[in-house]
Amino acid sequence: VGLLVQKYGGTSVADADRIKAVAEHIVRTRGQGDDVVVVVSAMGKSTDDLERLAHDVSQAPAAREMDMLLTAGERISMSLLCMAILDHGQRAVSFTGSQAGIVTDTVHRKAKIVEVRADRIREAIAAGEVAIVAGFQGVSTARDITTLGRGGSDTTAVALAAVLGAEACEIYTDVAGVYSADPRVVPEARRLPRLSFDEALEMAASGSEVLALRSAEFARNYGVPVHVRSSFSWEPGTWVREEDPTMEQAIISGVTHDTTEAKVTIEQVPDRPGIAATVFRALADEDVNVDMIVQNVSTAGHTDISFTVPNEELARTLSVMEKVVKETDASGFSNDPGIGRVSLVGAGMRTNPGVAAKMFETLAGEKVNIEMISTSSIRISCVVQEPDVERAVRALHKAFELERGTAGGDES
Ligand code: ASP
Ligand code: MG
Repeated sequence: VGLLVQKYGGTSVADADRIKAVAEHIVRTRGQGDDVVVVVSAMGKSTDDLERLAHDVSQAPAAREMDMLLTAGERISMSLLCMAILDHGQRAVSFTGSQAGIVTDTVHRKAKIVEVRADRIREAIAAGEVAIVAGFQGVSTARDITTLGRGGSDTTAVALAAVLGAEACEIYTDVAGVYSADPRVVPEARRLPRLSFDEALEMAASGSEVLALRSAEFARNYGVPVHVRSSFSWEPGTWVREEDPTMEQAIISGVTHDTTEAKVTIEQVPDRPGIAATVFRALADEDVNVDMIVQNVSTAGHTDISFTVPNEELARTLSVMEKVVKETDASGFSNDPGIGRVSLVGAGMRTNPGVAAKMFETLAGEKVNIEMISTSSIRISCVVQEPDVERAVRALHKAFELERGTAGGDES
């Protein structure tokens, strides 16, 4: 027998009927002979509701208490799901993150897993029980309850799959897999039968919401095959796994977009060694996640540096900039929260020249102005004005014929 880790997102367990449907599927899977470990998110939008409640009682909810509060959401869904499974005569037991041995660092609200002491889960499996684990939570090395950042249940699931040596980690959600673009923006978008770890990582990092970034990193680092699929249709979805060298790579797999970042520019900083180090050290010390960075050509010994940060870290960034401008003798700084990022991702890009040129031509044809560009070996991203984002995504999807699909059939 093999071991499967199944993760169910909030919409999959949104109400009593959904919980019962999921319980049936788990019992069915177990009946086929596989051992099953389940990771569950909070019901529906209950994490959002709890967050709102916190802001109703406090202007700046303390991070430690926020973690205490939010972890209650997964505690509700895990126990209800466990009860529903027990009704089928299948043995099952639920665990909080702490009981499941998810040990994290001490950074509340976005803790990183440092160790998984999964012995209680192993014991449950050995006893023939389905282990149900609360996603998104752990216990810190200082013995406080922590959360792994919004969407963190994916990370719990992939981490457990890695530690337990599971055959695969199934991520059940309300969409049928990862698509060539967000279907809400591009109705012709296609489900991708498979993605490499690198592609999934780039897609998650550039705005695809199907798999949390941290979990994609975990999957790649530990080689955990991930199957993203629907808990509504139960059909095969998108497999994320090691690239198959014998298979032809699609040049472009998908177009992603992200409108949750802001652009910050520090103007007329002296162009000399140590300036970039000063700016980005100051931001790192305040835990700001800097994304794209572009430095202009210098004129008369001065240059502009632009970068992007998450919108919710903008206020913090601007207060760092006040200090940095003085320290570096820059002339000032500006910011623009109204930007968006459009990216093309595809492993075949590595060996096919001309992708960037075609991307820029397509955007030019739509009269979309490109403000910043960054690339990796399998991604090209452009920062544009937010109102241009959806038009840009649709134009790129069409120009690269992503509705047509690629070589290779479905996997199941
Ligand atoms: N319930 C948490 C959230 O809404 C974790 C998750 O769903 O993955 O962010
Ligand atoms: Mg999620």
